[in-house]
Amino acid sequence: MRDELRGLIAQLRARAEISDPEDWKTDGSGEGFAAPRVGLACAPAPTPAPESPPAAALETLAEAAALSSLRAEVLACRACPLGFQRLNPAFGVGFEDAEVMFIGEGPGFEEDRQGEPFVGKAGQLLDNILGAIRLSRKSVYLANIVKCHPMVDPSDPGRRGNDRPPTPEEMAACRRFLDAQIAIVKPRFLVALGGVAAKVMIGTETGIMKLRGRWHEYNPGEIPLLPTFHPAFLLRSPEHKRDVWEDMKDLRRRLDADEI
Ligand code: SF4
Repeated sequence: MRDELRGLIAQLRARAEISDPEDWKTDGSGEGFAAPRVGLACAPAPTPAPESPPAAALETLAEAAALSSLRAEVLACRACPLGFQRLNPAFGVGFEDAEVMFIGEGPGFEEDRQGEPFVGKAGQLLDNILGAIRLSRKSVYLANIVKCHPMVDPSDPGRRGNDRPPTPEEMAACRRFLDAQIAIVKPRFLVALGGVAAKVMIGTETGIMKLRGRWHEYNPGEIPLLPTFHPAFLLRSPEHKRDVWEDMKDLRRRLDADEI
């Protein structure tokens, strides 16, 4: 029984693997967030030790099973028009026991093709940002507010640049999936990437320029939440990489302080 459980967890983790780590190690788009040259600077993904206490192992299993079940719900979901337009839903990816969950607004062109959040150039930059503070795609959890690609022209899903922010109705329809992911993973910290995600998660109309750089709360009193710029914005406005670097150092400090 335990071998079967480990097998299930291993399968779920395998889905979270980026296809080719060399892609982002050599990509120039992350300038200012150099990827680690060797594994030392980047914390290895936590893996369940064979000697894990049964209670912890069972909890991890339950989380993996709950996420797998939720993923199946998303695959079948047509609760808003995006469900009829997407190529693939981008459910979420990462470690089911992650201490930090990063949240964006919705999948774009590449995510729609690969069915995974934060891929393509923006995803490579996010990988580099994570590596700079000793995190990785496998040690955090990545998700979006809506799971299906919002397009300006849904009749042309093959066109790049056909992205738009999700509407309030689309976000309301999809919100239960993100809330369930947060409830299952139980991260200690949330990071909202970009203005749309920050406003929705905090429940404010204040823009990202004023929100970032300060800690807020998801469900007041529940989980500390740090808004910062979306990596896609950084690709267009690299002068703001310094701001994100300051925010990520702050996150690293909070993680280190809580580990003491
Ligand atoms: S965006 Fe969310 S609510 Fe809309 S169809 Fe996709 S999974 Fe369902």
